[in-house]
Amino acid sequence: AKQTGKNNIQLYTDGLDETIRDRFIMESKLNRAIENDEFSLHYQPKIDLATDSVMGMEALLRWHNPELGFIPPDKFIPLSEDSGLILPIGEWVMKRALSDTAKLHKEGFADLKIAINLSLRQFMKKGLVEFVEKSIETAGLNNRNVEFEITENIFTEDLSTISRIMNEISNLNIKFAIDDFGTGYSSIGYLKKMPISTLKIDRSYISKIDSDTDSESIVSSVILMSKSLGLNVVAEGAETESQVNMLKDMGCSIVQGYYYGKPMPYDEFLEFVRNWK
Ligand code: C2E
Ligand code: CA
Ligand code: CA
Ligand code: CA
Repeated sequence: AKQTGKNNIQLYTDGLDETIRDRFIMESKLNRAIENDEFSLHYQPKIDLATDSVMGMEALLRWHNPELGFIPPDKFIPLSEDSGLILPIGEWVMKRALSDTAKLHKEGFADLKIAINLSLRQFMKKGLVEFVEKSIETAGLNNRNVEFEITENIFTEDLSTISRIMNEISNLNIKFAIDDFGTGYSSIGYLKKMPISTLKIDRSYISKIDSDTDSESIVSSVILMSKSLGLNVVAEGAETESQVNMLKDMGCSIVQGYYYGKPMPYDEFLEFVRNWK
């Protein structure tokens, strides 16, 4: 299949379709990115507003290729999902994020929780539960310090399979957060049915809470609903003091955004937690 794909693309590059050619070039480089050591992880702090402490961090993948330069995840993650490359990449992310977290714990920050993004494709891969369990054990971490971020699109798949896998993972004391909440297929039903512990309200709402009354009411309703369902809420993408103050007033528990800290390499993140008050 690869072969025909290559030939097809060859035809297009003689024509005008830049995007297909770009995709092909990117994919062929992506294929070798792990072995060439081109990936790294950045960590973005999550602040617990009640205690004013860094409660954890999200692992965010970065790809730097010598020829293509820095490519944002929004570009190469969808591509790697289509090609299946997300599976080895996802395993790389998981191992690195867990071992970095273990290092942070050894530095004296043993309460930090790591949040790892899991795409649908990774979620559906056979053996995920065993892989997760083994990787956490190898890293020497405790399961309760690990959380997976999944998006609502997961609930468009076969719900009995999804719920079985989620329950198996949840029974290991690993938590689930719904990422980009409010942008996808939404049903209040699954929030109760599925083992979900956190909602991450999408940045598109948070960035407008102080300028758009609809966003303000949506965010405050989601926070109220989460509380009554016993869920944690993370506000994603808060950039200003005014946004953070509004979130505090609304009773939001956790904030992640440039206001507190951008995603940063391991060493910088370690400095960040050391310098935190
Ligand atoms: P996401 O999971 O929703 O991650 C949050 C994104 O919002 C990150 O973009 C982060 O840098 C950005 N962000 C956080 N706070 C702010 C803020 O205050 N202002 C602004 N303007 N942006 C903020 P990033 O790192 O470019 O990642 C984009 C997406 O790529 C992620 O969205 C996630 O869907 C995907 N991704 C990243 N790393 C991984 C990974 O390891 N595995 C998988 N499956 N997906 C990943
Ligand atoms: Ca995420
Ligand atoms: Ca998100
Ligand atoms: Ca996203």
